Amino acid sequence: MAYDTNNIFAKILRGEIPNDTVYEDEHVLAFRDIRPQARVHVLLIPKGAYESLEDFSAKASEAEIVAFTRAIATVSKLAGTDVTGYRAIANTGADGHQEVPHFHLHLLGGQRIGRMVSLPE
Ligand code: 5GP
Repeated sequence: MAYDTNNIFAKILRGEIPNDTVYEDEHVLAFRDIRPQARVHVLLIPKGAYESLEDFSAKASEAEIVAFTRAIATVSKLAGTDVTGYRAIANTGADGHQEVPHFHLHLLGGQRIGRMVSLPE
């Protein structure tokens, strides 16, 4: 499947839609989720056009992967979850219930996060 250049995060990266930025570098943008599901809910995205974790993991350059991984600790510190902890989630594809087709990592914290997985009835 081809990357959809009109997805909402591509528009955010192009500056067409505003965002509440927490951190930015050459390869990564982190911003607050518009519908937070915890006191801290930040999304980390690569600036490259990768539609999912699967795509990013298979195709991103080493520089992009290192930058993204390092940004997790940087963003966690900025968001205040580095000591108290958090849950990092990458919903991937249809079974993973991914809605926006640009790879993103949810960082949820600032309070106790509930059960790890809930399967449909
Ligand atoms: P997914 O279900 O794809 O893992 O998560 C997509 C996330 O993107 C959701 O948590 C949703 O609230 C967030 N989101 C969707 N549109 C926007 C937007 O325009 N701005 C921001 N900051 N977050 C968004």
